[in-house]
Amino acid sequence: MTNRILLFLLVIFTFIAVSCNKTYGDKTPENEIDRKVKALVSKMTLEEKAGQMTQVTIDVLTEGESSYVSNEPLKLDTNTLNIAFGKYQVGSVLNTANNRARDKHEWNRLIGQIQESCLRHSRLKIPVLYGLDMIHGASYVSGATLFPQQIGMAATWNPVLIRRAGEITAYETRAIGCPWTFSPVLDLGLDSRWPRQWETFGEDPLLAATMGQALIQGLQGVDNDLSNPNRIAACMKHYLGYSQTVSGKDRTPALIPMNILREYHLPAFKKAVETGALTVMVNSGEINGLPVHASHQLITRLLKEELEFKGFVITDWGDIEYLHTRHKIAADQKEAVKIAINAGIDMSMVPYNFDFPGYVVELVNEGEIPMSRIDDAVSRILKVKFLLGLFENPTTTQENYPDFASENFASDARRTALESITLLKNDKNLLPLPSTAKILVCGPAANNMRPLLGGWSYSWQGNLVNEFTQDYATIYEAIRDLASNPAQVLLEEGVTYADTGEYRNELKQDLSQLLNKAKQADYIVVCGGENSYTETPGNATTLELSENQQELIKVAKSSGKPVILVLVQGRPRLIRKVEPLSDAILNAYLPGNYGGEAVARILFGETNPSGKLPYTYPKYAYSLEPYYHKSTEALTDVGGPSGSGFNPQYEFGFGLSYAQFSYSELTLDKTSYNPGETLKLRVNIHNNSGKAGMEVVQVFVRDHFASNTPPVKRLRAFTKIMLQPGESREVALEFPVNDLAFVNQENETLLEKGEFSLMVGELKQTFSLTETKVLQASDNK
Ligand code: BGC
Repeated sequence: MTNRILLFLLVIFTFIAVSCNKTYGDKTPENEIDRKVKALVSKMTLEEKAGQMTQVTIDVLTEGESSYVSNEPLKLDTNTLNIAFGKYQVGSVLNTANNRARDKHEWNRLIGQIQESCLRHSRLKIPVLYGLDMIHGASYVSGATLFPQQIGMAATWNPVLIRRAGEITAYETRAIGCPWTFSPVLDLGLDSRWPRQWETFGEDPLLAATMGQALIQGLQGVDNDLSNPNRIAACMKHYLGYSQTVSGKDRTPALIPMNILREYHLPAFKKAVETGALTVMVNSGEINGLPVHASHQLITRLLKEELEFKGFVITDWGDIEYLHTRHKIAADQKEAVKIAINAGIDMSMVPYNFDFPGYVVELVNEGEIPMSRIDDAVSRILKVKFLLGLFENPTTTQENYPDFASENFASDARRTALESITLLKNDKNLLPLPSTAKILVCGPAANNMRPLLGGWSYSWQGNLVNEFTQDYATIYEAIRDLASNPAQVLLEEGVTYADTGEYRNELKQDLSQLLNKAKQADYIVVCGGENSYTETPGNATTLELSENQQELIKVAKSSGKPVILVLVQGRPRLIRKVEPLSDAILNAYLPGNYGGEAVARILFGETNPSGKLPYTYPKYAYSLEPYYHKSTEALTDVGGPSGSGFNPQYEFGFGLSYAQFSYSELTLDKTSYNPGETLKLRVNIHNNSGKAGMEVVQVFVRDHFASNTPPVKRLRAFTKIMLQPGESREVALEFPVNDLAFVNQENETLLEKGEFSLMVGELKQTFSLTETKVLQASDNK
């Protein structure tokens, strides 16, 4: 062999070796980061390790009368910083002080000072990791670009938009010096009683997994190069089964068998782990009697060992303490720490004191927590810090982020809001309205930004929204601005939201005023739904749209003018009684700062609505089944009470358009499939109308008979397409037939042979699976 051939082979060999060695973070190959982590951990004292595992909230570090309150203007307390980073070597800080948004300069300065103090005290120069709830954009930064909340994102059925939302959130979050967000929520939004349904991507496992992946790819980058100063680490939450409590109230007990956890709740987290999500937050609740923070089976065996999650696991707010004070499974705080760390928790969101690291040290010294467990936790945390490039670039410089709140970012947020809004009813094609229409706009969401944004907007409960949103248009303002004669657009709220107290408090005005103004209008737009909330304060006492608002709609209808109901709401409020009084209905979810504009553009037909429901819209409070209910839940016995059977107000995936689409020629590539094969289908979609529009093509599959009762159908593939007037397009979609497997009583993932129906629009084809196969063995040990 000549030298040249040898050299050529060497080059090829090196190339292959380097490409197989996935690079991350500071472009250092992953195993080199692992070596750095190992070297660092070997130099650390137990106290330093316990500090890394500790996270406190910023109010602890500021001047103020207690750890819970900070003085304004905000000032960091040098003494407490010395304690936090000098004495305890705290590894992470979260949250905003006094529960209010700050501007980008203040943030950048605060996080910079915290980082500086941390590095000055750290013997081994380990940077602090700051984390914030940047939930629908950089939602704790005044002036940032805010998107629709996740439920609206899901209603777009357009992952391209959601990836972009992630990129913009990452850019604006890194601009303030923060490298980590507690997002996305990957819980299934399948119960409208639960006050966080709007924080989810809806009820379907495939939709949630697809949108979750897109958001993570936006936040972390498709290549997961986290050292890129425009990216931040994602935190999938709240692992696992958080959304399906028995009572529907937040943080109350859940009863979910393992096969249901695996088949329905796990897929979005599994996909997120495969996508490279760097951190995960744990469900604050209990499942089958065991708080998830104490579950070695879910955290260590399932997440870390089976799914091979390599990032770190953080608790939710105060959740180790709560193992003692709320869940009562630990006799004291120290036992709570022992249980949680041995279950697999890596970092404790303490967040108000420095007791946690002391317990960790004691428990290790007493042999109650193995040092190997601590080293695993700390290695995972340090790895994330290395991947984020924090050792080289612990802070960011504001000037490097000139696109913060740029017009380009705004147009992406606007488009996301536009694609989310879902047209639920349009009798006699009432919409779109002529631009010359005389319109009366009423209802509590007519001239108020707060309900458009929801919780996690400038403050936890969203109660400060109006202070930060002067530059954006409410629904009324946007309709007025878009109308050809603004003077013909009138406002009469009729019902308003009380600005303080519980989110459900309302004030009713004299409705005779409304009837007077209605005389001058051709149409009445009623904007109602819910005020902002999240978590426990958002628990519901009823699901019906409030009585005040129902009355408002009745009064509006009594004027004889057509009524258009615009729903601005976190959960689908029951509208059964007022639906017949509404000639058209739009569901706007929580569309964000551009929601007013988006509603107005859709009302006037400047944009054709293309959102589709990411949940089943219930009709009755006692019928909250998701679309993948069992056949027995859909039976309507003769003589049964009204409302029995599956009888939602609107089905999952439903949404009208101003265009008309028809489906034809559904074909499958085969009539029977073997395990491991891919099912390929084609279908023709035609736009029969004179209006361009977007259509979401949804593929459902029904398993006719199975040894575990099959759901009536499951979504298996979808795509969103644009069709010009008169245009036809053949759409090709595919999915692995292994996706049709279910998890049985033995917790085996089983693909079972038999007959299946595949449905797209009104079309149906049948196919069969040839062979039964266990795709994954049982985890029952
Ligand atoms: C919520 C989490 C959030 C955390 C930090 C908790 O109360 O459940 O979703 O990320 O607080 O603010």
